[in-house]
Order: sequence, then structure tokens, then C-alpha cells
Amino acid sequence: PNPDPDPHDFIFRSTLPDIYIPHHLPLHAYCFDSISRFKDRPCLINGPTGRIYSYAEVELTSRKVATGLSKFGIQQGDVVMLLLQNSPEFVFSFFGASFRGAISTTANPFYTPAEIAKQATASKTKLLITQAVYAEKVKDFAKENDIKIITIDTPPEGCFHFSELTQVDEDEIPAVKVNPEDVVALPYSSGTTGLPKGVMLTHKSLVTSVAQQVDGENPNLYFHERDVILCVLPLFHIYSLNSVLLCSLRVGAAILIMQKFEIVTLMELVEKYKVTIAPFVPPIVLAIAKTPDVDKYDLSSIRMVMSGAAPMGKELEDAVRARLPNAKLGQGYGMTEAGPVLAMNLAFAKEPRETKSGACGTVVRNAQMKIVDPETGASLPRKQSGEICIRGSQIMKGYLNDPEATERTIDKDGWLHTGDIGYIDEDDELFIVDRLKELIKYKGFQVAPAELEAILISHPNISDAAVVPIKDEAAGEVPVAFVVRSNGSQITEDEVKQFISKQVVFYKRLGRVFFTDAIPKAPSGKILRKDLRAKLADM
Ligand code: AMP
Repeated sequence: PNPDPDPHDFIFRSTLPDIYIPHHLPLHAYCFDSISRFKDRPCLINGPTGRIYSYAEVELTSRKVATGLSKFGIQQGDVVMLLLQNSPEFVFSFFGASFRGAISTTANPFYTPAEIAKQATASKTKLLITQAVYAEKVKDFAKENDIKIITIDTPPEGCFHFSELTQVDEDEIPAVKVNPEDVVALPYSSGTTGLPKGVMLTHKSLVTSVAQQVDGENPNLYFHERDVILCVLPLFHIYSLNSVLLCSLRVGAAILIMQKFEIVTLMELVEKYKVTIAPFVPPIVLAIAKTPDVDKYDLSSIRMVMSGAAPMGKELEDAVRARLPNAKLGQGYGMTEAGPVLAMNLAFAKEPRETKSGACGTVVRNAQMKIVDPETGASLPRKQSGEICIRGSQIMKGYLNDPEATERTIDKDGWLHTGDIGYIDEDDELFIVDRLKELIKYKGFQVAPAELEAILISHPNISDAAVVPIKDEAAGEVPVAFVVRSNGSQITEDEVKQFISKQVVFYKRLGRVFFTDAIPKAPSGKILRKDLRAKLADM
């Protein structure tokens, strides 16, 4: 339990009352809690094929996968890697692991073999569930480490088909006692500093976070059972996993799965299935605002557009409001380590409030927020900018095998320090104005400067390097590098870019490379990123 707040702190709470949260329930039991009411309702609609899975089917298949996993040797507490695009099998695998008491670590299937191997090694992955096209990338690593590969489509040689997980008898399902403090999801995030780390989200964290969004006295706060929710954001990212998948299941809504973002297909599917809720990120909002063909489709069923994962400016908000006049638009603010939702807009509460442009919501219920001066640590009143901190049982348990990084992020009083700078206004709305942390966000995807810097300095012709963001209209931000050549080296911008491109997923590629004599550093050795950002602004 968190200690009582310091009476001198300015603590901000939701304007809505706290709710009862069933913390004791494992995540799968919580999400399928109303299965008796929902069993015949459509749960998943697979966009590419049109196949519909009912709630009963999704729950049963997930339980079978739990049995299948144990037949593949997965024990309680073991880690399974989901290296998948959005698909029904992603859902079955995630919940299969949950029913088994196991942990899902989710990864981007576009990762390079090296990126996947890093996460699989760090998380001690025992089994990998993927698609045949991605299996090639992991085959050698999996063989060396005795990791079995399951593919959801025709398996390449040496891999197993997903049906081996589901072709089991229901009554063989192993009885597992899950503790609310057990980890269920292990996404990777670099947080405020350094390399990507495993973020331990427990059953209790995710139950709390979902409840904060959809449970309680305001049952229609976000979604209800008549909604059709578009699942186009990648489920390997916690925003989609939590605020799209888990929240929809909890309320009994239908989830329309798109494997990847493509604007025309998206509009066709919205029209065909009368999508009511559209959770997006700013680049998708931009596409909706800018694509000329939008008027050819009937998108009037959309009652709500949510945007999160990266900042969305007022101009963009206004442009999409004009395009989708029936839809309310609201931002949410999340961070993987926070479970992830810290703030959400109240445009959908029982007594709706008009939200201001640029606001990213008010703090969720059953949680506390404070804004602290990054220099002194003192908590600040309304309308003053500082580091956003949050406390509540939705936040992560910590980083996997990294107590130092955990201590740097969650202080002794249980406050999670986000590394984001913002303020709360007179109406309790939160505005993010800057980012204190190193993190770069390309279309909402994380780019950790430390990861690129480590690769850069591994090059024999580079003696030092620093990576910082530069603003970009389409992507929000793009990483650029300052590089110090080794003595006598003539390495070119193109060679540096190529060197990085070969080793990382597309969104971590360098937009520009600037050569310099020295990287500015504090006496402690810490890169003075602010100076480099200022240098870029002057260029
Ligand atoms: P991730 O852990 O990948 O979800 O990234 C979390 C970070 O994304 C946050 O700490 C913010 O810096 C940024 N972010 C998320 N939502 C918003 C938002 N609505 N506005 C501005 N930045 C955001």
C-alpha cells in the first residue's frame, strides 16, 4: 500500500469518484467476466477474411491454447514471445498464456533478427508464436537456444502449426492458481533513459487500468457492448493491447481486426461494419484529415476518435473534427510503464464535458497525479509545468531484472516519474508541453537513442555519437545522429545511415547524420542532449 500523500504535495485526482476494482481477479477472468451474457455475441471480426468469432469461441480457444502451451512445456511464469501482426491468434495466444499463468512478451514482427534475439534473450523466451514470413528471421536463434517456433499459418520446416496448440480436449486444461501480483504482459520500453527494458505488468496492473477506463458508475465512459471497435493499432504495443483489446472484451463489444494500416481498406471496413470507436495515433488521424477519398465513404457510424501515443496539435484536431462531424475526438495519454493510461478525456462521461484542444485528458480514477519541479522535486500547483508523476495500482511492478532502472523510475513513495513535462489547468485538464526524457517517438513508435548510440560506436570508424529527435510533419519525430569520426576516418553520412538501417527496424533509421568534433557531455559523462537539440534548432 502507498503511504499517505505528503500534506504539502499538490495531488490531483479524477473529477469522477473512485470505483470498485476487482483486484483479486486474474486478467482473463476479469475480461471474460460477463461471458454468460455475451457468449453468442461477436467478439472478434477478422478484417482480412470476414470471419467472426463469438465470445464463447474466443474464451474456449484461449483456454485450449493454455493446455496446448503446457503440452509444449510452458510452465507457470514462463515467457512466450508473440511476434505477430494483429490477428485472432494474437488474442488466443495472449489469453492462452494468461490462463496458463504464463507471460506474453510482445514484439514488433518487423524487428531485425538482432532486435528480436535481444528481447528473446533478455526475457528468457521459451516459445515463439509468429507468422511463416517472420519465422526465417528467428530460426537460427531459436535453434541455438532450444526455443520452439509456432506459426499461425503454414509452418516452415522445423516449426509447428498453431493448431497443435488448440487441438486438445477442453477437460485437459491445467488448473492454475494465478496471483494478482504475477506478471502477465512484458512489453519492452526504454522508459526515461537507456536501452529497452522489460516492463512487468501484472494481472492487477492491467485489471486496474482497464477498470479505470471502462468500469464503474460511468459504464459508458468509453465503450459499451453495442460498440464496434477498430483494432488497427498494433497489438504488440500496450496502447492497442490494453485500451483496444482488453477494454473491448471487458464491455462485450465487437473488435474489428485489421492486420495493418491502409487508409482505403480502413475506410471500407468502417463503412461495412459500422465501426463506432476508432482508436488512432496522430499519423492515422493525419491520413483521415488529408486523404481526398474520405468523402466517398460513409464514416458517420464513428462516434468517437481516440488519439494517443504521441502529441496531436490543435490544427490536426480541428481538421479531423471537420472531416468526421459525428465523432467526438479525445486524446488519451499513456506510457507503457504506467499500465499504460494516465489520463483520458471525459467527453464520454455521463455528464460529458467539452474537452479543450490540445488537452490529453484528466487523470484516471483510483489514481493520483502530481507535477513536480524537475530540479527541486517540489510538487507544483495548477498551471505550472513540471514532470508528470502518477501513483496507483495500475503502474508496472518494475523493470525485469533491473532494480536500478526501476528505482530511478518509481520512487520510494510509489510515484512513477514519466519524463514528460506538462501542467494541469483550472478544469483539471492535462497538457503535455515537452519531454524531459531521451525517448524519440516516430509515429508513436519508440526509438531509444541509447540503442542507436551503442550501434554507432560499435563501428570502427566512429569514436563517439549521440542521437536526438528532429521534428517531422509526417512522423512527429525522426532520430538524427551527431557523430565523431575516428582519427583519419572519412566515413560518410550515407555509410553511417546504411550501417544503422541494416540492424534496426524501419522507424529507428536515421533521418540525418551530422559530423562533429565532440559530443557535449556533463562531467558525469551524460550526453547534454538539450545542447544538441538547441544546435539542431539553430541549423
Ligand atoms: P509508450 O511507452 O511507447 O506508450 O510511450 C509513452 C510516451 O509517449 C509518453 O511518455 C509520452 O512522451 C508520449 N505520449 C503518449 N501519449 C501522448 C499524448 N497524448 N500526447 C503527447 N505525448 C504522448
